[in-house]
Amino acid sequence: MEPPLFVRIALSALALLSLGATKPEPRAAASKDIAAACGTRDGWSEPAPPAHIHGKSWYVGTCGITVVLVETRAGLVLIDTGPKDAAPHVLKNIRALGFDPRRIKWLLMTHEHFDHVGGMAAIQRATGAKLVVSPGAEVAMRSGKAVPEDPQAALLAKYPMPPARVDRVLRGGGSLTVGETRFTMHANPTHSPGSASWTWQSCDAGKCLTIAYADSVNTISSDDYRFTAHPERIDAARAGLRTIEALPCDLLLTPHPGGSDLLERLSGNAPLTYQRACVAYAAGGSDRLAKRLDREAQGQ
Ligand SMILES: [Zn+2]
Repeated sequence: MEPPLFVRIALSALALLSLGATKPEPRAAASKDIAAACGTRDGWSEPAPPAHIHGKSWYVGTCGITVVLVETRAGLVLIDTGPKDAAPHVLKNIRALGFDPRRIKWLLMTHEHFDHVGGMAAIQRATGAKLVVSPGAEVAMRSGKAVPEDPQAALLAKYPMPPARVDRVLRGGGSLTVGETRFTMHANPTHSPGSASWTWQSCDAGKCLTIAYADSVNTISSDDYRFTAHPERIDAARAGLRTIEALPCDLLLTPHPGGSDLLERLSGNAPLTYQRACVAYAAGGSDRLAKRLDREAQGQ
């Protein structure tokens, strides 16, 4: 026996409503003004709402650290996690967009420091996803401790990370294809030995462009470290800057959103895409490295 028509209509409306409640349309759920939501807050673990980047790419990080979610036909990809205590905010943002974190299949990362990947072990537990790293980041991710070659090693020793499981090591220029999207890794050891940038194509309403999530270009160090005593590190940093300069780069993302006015750009207060974005970003890094080497040469 079939229930009366009005009962069936009511039931299907209810089903639709409950579907809507558990699965919000990601674009509708995303914040239109993440810059205003964060205001002057830029702490690494300060909660930010999720925001739309372009196509199927989303900002799910905090006010001070970028975390990127990309939807593909074969599941979700997350790049970076933020620090350990930000992991719950990141998972909440993913759910707020209507995505189940257990649909995350791959975890990618920029560099092996606790502010960007301290939450990796927790996110791995919550998702079961596989982690892909650059060769220079492998040891630090497995151990949770910075390698001695890292100019910030002495500083980072105070902030160990929970060790993560490394599932794949990808060389610079290598790529990972997930569904219809190919993520290419570019090793650029400017900021740390394992620094990596990622590029992928994003299409939105028929318009396609390349997103470049370019790693940090700061050459900072612990107090007692001198770059001039490590010429191989200077060479690596310069090579990394050349790699970033040459990235296909229509839309620049940076691990610290302030590094490219990202929150302002996501909020429509500044152009989301602009010419030579990665060239300008790398030039800023080159400039700071040159000044640093000058100061060291002057014995400061
Ligand atoms: Zn760092």
